[in-house]
Amino acid sequence: MTRIVMKFGGSLLASHYGIRLVGHLVERSRKKRDEVVVVVSALGDVTDTLLQAAGDARQWSEEEILGAINEIRGTHVSAIERSSVGGHEKATVLQGFEANLEKLRETLLGVSILGELSPRSKDLIVSFGERMSAPIVTAEIMTRGIGSASLTGGEAGIVTDDTYGEAVPFEAATARSVKKRLLPMLARGEVPVVAGFIAKSTGGETTTLGRGGSDYTATLLASCIGADEVWIWTDVDGILTADPRVVKRPATVSQLSYAEAEELAFFGAKNMHPLALGPARRSDIPVRIKNGFRPELPGTIITGEQTKSRGVVKVVAVVRNVGLLTVAGETLQGRPGVAARVFSALASDRVNVLMISQSVSEANISMIVRRNSLRAAEKALRRELRGQGISIEGDPRVAVVAAVGAGMRGERGVAAKIFAAVASSGINVRMIAQGSSELNISFVVSEHDADGAVRALHSQIVGRVRG
Ligand code: ADP
Ligand code: ASP
Ligand code: MG
Repeated sequence: MTRIVMKFGGSLLASHYGIRLVGHLVERSRKKRDEVVVVVSALGDVTDTLLQAAGDARQWSEEEILGAINEIRGTHVSAIERSSVGGHEKATVLQGFEANLEKLRETLLGVSILGELSPRSKDLIVSFGERMSAPIVTAEIMTRGIGSASLTGGEAGIVTDDTYGEAVPFEAATARSVKKRLLPMLARGEVPVVAGFIAKSTGGETTTLGRGGSDYTATLLASCIGADEVWIWTDVDGILTADPRVVKRPATVSQLSYAEAEELAFFGAKNMHPLALGPARRSDIPVRIKNGFRPELPGTIITGEQTKSRGVVKVVAVVRNVGLLTVAGETLQGRPGVAARVFSALASDRVNVLMISQSVSEANISMIVRRNSLRAAEKALRRELRGQGISIEGDPRVAVVAAVGAGMRGERGVAAKIFAAVASSGINVRMIAQGSSELNISFVVSEHDADGAVRALHSQIVGRVRG
């Protein structure tokens, strides 16, 4: 018997027969007597729709709210229609769904009446995506004669602080309550279906873990209940050597270490939550990324093992939605403390710096920040460095390209080959950084050059430069 936490992504759930497919994959494992905990995302891009609606509702009329509600109803009702759920069960699912939808409508109406959206209300609104998908999956599993019940992340026992939008789980308290909730269900042969991404603060409010958070829910639950494996079912064959929307027919990476996968999550490959691999790494639980449409394929396995075998660079990833901030001026030279002032000004305005590089001449410091905090960062620095002959420049149209692979460690000449490949396609590199882990080399290019840089690296470097 194997204890598996299976997470199903939104792309799979919203595909034509997605719900049946999930039922089939769960049934297959239960037939092998595996214990299964299911974690679900919201259907398709429902989370994006909800986020947009939450913001827009401040200006919306009642009719406009109804428009959004009807769109969300359409997505879910057609998923229910195409599932195997029928008869009385179908009526019950539809009824539960309408009750959730009514709560969502009332919450959006509240935002519209107040003309105001608090971070707490925003989290409550986006939580409806997973609240609505979990009962559909539960009904599909029950239709197949398997005991099942759906739980929100909070009901499953995930307790967080109240940093809405990016809540941090309290691991010890979470472990205690998750065990208490899930283990008896598994012992009864039931399949708990947990709404990913959402949790509950100690005060009992709904929180969310951050975008892509249902992968995080899966590893968190797995470490709490001592699962043997986590399977992340998605719509591609595993972690690919590059984004399939940028590179034609990328290969599937068969194995990655936790450290490599964490680096990739940070750089946005597969939209995975940057912290999602932490619980699996700390509890040494293998994570498999698999294609739900082609379950016979092995997919990618992420373990503690660091292999060099398949070339130095395993994956090329891109972070978009970032901005480049350059601080320059003669007065930066040889004046200890300026860099410290730069970073403390940014920290006190809660600007998170993703990458830093300083030229040898010390005449400039370049930084990468999230695009939505670029203006705040410029403002903080202007205030701090006013009247000192220092220029501050922000460019919102950039992207970070990262070549990731453990084999780069101690390998001479990799950087030279990477930059030669980029240069050969006529792309200008604006800034370079190498993390001390030596698991990646990342560089900044203009946004419109990002895809070209990925293609150049992918065709000339990935799997070719050998360790
Ligand atoms: P899910 O809905 O399963 O959570 P996501 O939308 O979070 O899936 O991420 C899966 C998508 O990420 C894939 O369909 C693929 O287009 C994209 N993607 C980008 N880069 C990569 C990569 N290096 N490996 C795999 N998928 C990637
Ligand atoms: N539905 C959430 C999101 O879109 C969480 C997830 O899918 O992992 O970010
Ligand atoms: Mg995802």
